[in-house]
Amino acid sequence: MLDHTHDPAARSWVATANDPATDFPLQNLPFCRFRRAGTLEPWRVGVGIGDQILDLSAWGIADLNALMARSSSERRALRHRLFDTLKEGAPVQELLPQAEAEFTLPCHIGDYTDFYTGIHHARAIGRLFRPDNPLLPNYQWVPIGYHGRSSSIVVSGTKLRRPKGQVKPPDADAPVFKPSARIDCELELGLFVGPGNALGEPFSIDEADEHAFGLTLLNDWSARDIQPWEYQPLGPFLAKNFGTTISPWIVTMDALAPFRMPFTRPAEDPQPLPYLDSPGHRANAAFDIELEVWFKTPTMAEPARISRSNLRHAYWSLAQMLTHHASNGCNLQPGDLLGTGTISGPTQAESGSLLELTGGGKQPITLPNGEQRTFMLDGDQLGLRAFAEKPGFRRIGFGPCEGQITPAI
Ligand code: MN
Repeated sequence: MLDHTHDPAARSWVATANDPATDFPLQNLPFCRFRRAGTLEPWRVGVGIGDQILDLSAWGIADLNALMARSSSERRALRHRLFDTLKEGAPVQELLPQAEAEFTLPCHIGDYTDFYTGIHHARAIGRLFRPDNPLLPNYQWVPIGYHGRSSSIVVSGTKLRRPKGQVKPPDADAPVFKPSARIDCELELGLFVGPGNALGEPFSIDEADEHAFGLTLLNDWSARDIQPWEYQPLGPFLAKNFGTTISPWIVTMDALAPFRMPFTRPAEDPQPLPYLDSPGHRANAAFDIELEVWFKTPTMAEPARISRSNLRHAYWSLAQMLTHHASNGCNLQPGDLLGTGTISGPTQAESGSLLELTGGGKQPITLPNGEQRTFMLDGDQLGLRAFAEKPGFRRIGFGPCEGQITPAI
């Protein structure tokens, strides 16, 4: 899995790619869709390198979905070509500074599914919604998910209007229709599907990596006062589909190869059923990726980090999400997006949502300037960040995933 493109000593002729703090060293090479800001030029597929973008239109790559459909060996060959083009000593080419670009969704997202693989989140939310029965009995057997809505997925920087919806206070006889007062974030990663599978043709857990293209940051904005009234018995609906923000960048699975780790289950827990288990899967299906939540009110000069977690806390792996999704013959397609679900760590300080961080909205967080928050107020901004870091490898970052809440109409 590892080759010369993961060598931490490899340098780029793009000076900013050699900065130890960059998200996009030569070893990353994430994809995006961009154009020069303020123009109506057609969107182009690009690769991030330091603070610059390499335009791939001259490479005949105009459609990221077509690239996603290619086999893993073809995708790896492209990574090697990109590496050779951008490494120190290769001819210098014209690039576009990221600061002079605007971004759109990196590809056409046909379908969006959101999983629920964060067991600490599932327990904490379950405790708030069902104090007697926090973790439902199916959780440790079946990867839980729901079909989300792709039309409201937006790229980082897009403002989101506070939704209105039905809210029923616990002691009221009837619900009211009003602006949500409990806008929350969900700290997730999104997995972009590579090659699809035909309808009726599942694949094995050992084939799952072939179907994985890469990861993006994903904030599954949630209206916590709409959610408890509407979610039974068919699951989340309007509390979730008023907006989902993703990073403009897709970090490929090849770039993340150094950060794989064994997938383990506590011995006392049910072990995955055979179709979600294999020796190869156990050896390296988990990922060590640091995740952060940053918050900024209109009066703060800089955002402040309010939480920190890690993808290694996921109860189900990315490969299990893919394999389970297709296990009934459901066809996945290139560019489909699978959210991991909120990845909270074991302690409250590692919460991936404000709902958990504030104990259900009862314990406000205090920001560095003294302001307090339970949920998002109008004008507040929230950003997710992620990076993978390990001795002997370059740090791989994910770019920004930011959004601002604007008043309801
Ligand atoms: Mn979610």
